[in-house]
Amino acid sequence: VAFEWAMNRFDDCLSNHKLCKPPETTPLPTRILDLSGDDFIKLYVTKSENERYACLSHSWGGIVPCQTLKENCDKHQERINISDLPATFRDVVGYVRRLGIRFLWIDSLCIVQDDINDWRRECIKMYSVYRNAALTIAATKSRDSRAGLFTAAEKQFMGQRVGDIDVTFNEGRTDECTEKCDLFLRQTLYETHDAFHRHIPGEQDNLPLLGRGWVFQERLLSPRVLHFGSQELIWECAESSFCECQDVSDSASTLKKEHSEEIPSEKWWQELVNDYSALNLTFPSDRLPALSGIAKEYYKHRPSDRYIAGMWESSIYKDMLWRVKERNRNEKLIEWRAPSWSWVSVDSIISYETNGFFGEGERLCEILSIESTTVDGDPTSGLKSASMIISGCFTTSVIQHIPPTDGSEWWSCHLTTDGRSVECFLDHHLHLPGPNNIPNGTTVYCFPLCHNFNGTYSLVLLPSNSDEDIFERVGLLVEYGVQRDKSFCIIGGDKRVIEIR
Ligand SMILES: [Zn+2]
Ligand SMILES: [Zn+2]
Repeated sequence: VAFEWAMNRFDDCLSNHKLCKPPETTPLPTRILDLSGDDFIKLYVTKSENERYACLSHSWGGIVPCQTLKENCDKHQERINISDLPATFRDVVGYVRRLGIRFLWIDSLCIVQDDINDWRRECIKMYSVYRNAALTIAATKSRDSRAGLFTAAEKQFMGQRVGDIDVTFNEGRTDECTEKCDLFLRQTLYETHDAFHRHIPGEQDNLPLLGRGWVFQERLLSPRVLHFGSQELIWECAESSFCECQDVSDSASTLKKEHSEEIPSEKWWQELVNDYSALNLTFPSDRLPALSGIAKEYYKHRPSDRYIAGMWESSIYKDMLWRVKERNRNEKLIEWRAPSWSWVSVDSIISYETNGFFGEGERLCEILSIESTTVDGDPTSGLKSASMIISGCFTTSVIQHIPPTDGSEWWSCHLTTDGRSVECFLDHHLHLPGPNNIPNGTTVYCFPLCHNFNGTYSLVLLPSNSDEDIFERVGLLVEYGVQRDKSFCIIGGDKRVIEIR
């Protein structure tokens, strides 16, 4: 029954959905699994043939699934025994064959895992791998590749016949008739639905895949996703979202559907980053690469814009208005990953101050130039360095860490100038002893970015020890509801040109 349900969704999408219309030709990825053998599959190095294929979206879950390495790459091109595959892969192979699709892409088998150059090359193409797939099978309830794809529905969720009931059809009409019908009862499926909606990090306990960083773009880029949940199947495409129990239906606004429907805008990007920053990455250094595919998608809508460290040049002064809530704050990273003005430089859940109605307001800074060097020439994958030259006004202030008073462990922070004190949001734990400690009484600088009816928004900066004109961001100061001339920061005073790294 479940297979038929999924097949109907698939057919309906392919033949009736305008938004999901597949492109005329979709070339196969560099390598793909050919499922046409009987008790084996094999790795096939493609010649860009146009064929239909499926993708697997799965969580590695800290264990290494069956993988292609330099040493077994040739062997895998001859044969991979089905019996050697972990349960999830085995189930997917069977399911995809049943759908009548010959080719399947699984990251751990189709990318040579111990070849960093292959990984980089294929990572850049990941965007088109998911974009061009006919269907993405998501092992959504599976923590790792051993868990398998399917679940036996628990008894309380299966309908139990409890009796019969008289049902009247066509009431009031001439062909009115009453029939005895069977009455079934079952418990409501409660756990799977919320997790498909937006802004609900941490609600994915039963659906661990939805909490994974890499899966975010796999899900948003794939034209069609069939989720294998812990209690039911869930279908997602650009035009519809359905689950078997019908609690997720077309009227529900799931993350995927919202992103498919909206025309990418500044706000769209910032909300997407909000959602994405809550997800887990096995390697936190993947924070930029795991979003690379979506950045490429956005590029299509703004070909003349420039992507720098998870932000866009045309809106960069607003893209810098992210903050970290106390409870989400982490230690400063040891290795450089991104400039301090980018959210990529922290390992925390961030939130954008521009959510809700923001308005243009008045810009209080001028960005003169932004320089960046990339790891491999692709601005969406990794960075080697980046800095910004910016002109604006400065206010000096003194930092004061405030210990928690409510029994929590979250420290807050105040800035003080001339006896006035305001709260600021720090990007990292800076009160802890160690190399990143900023002791109470240290002088910091406030650099206003913009002012609107919500208030004034300023970067909190610290000079980097090497040079007086080079600074790094340590936090964001938001003065809610303050009038321009009552701001804590001097607005319209002497201008200064600085570099922020
Ligand atoms: Zn569709
Ligand atoms: Zn449901």
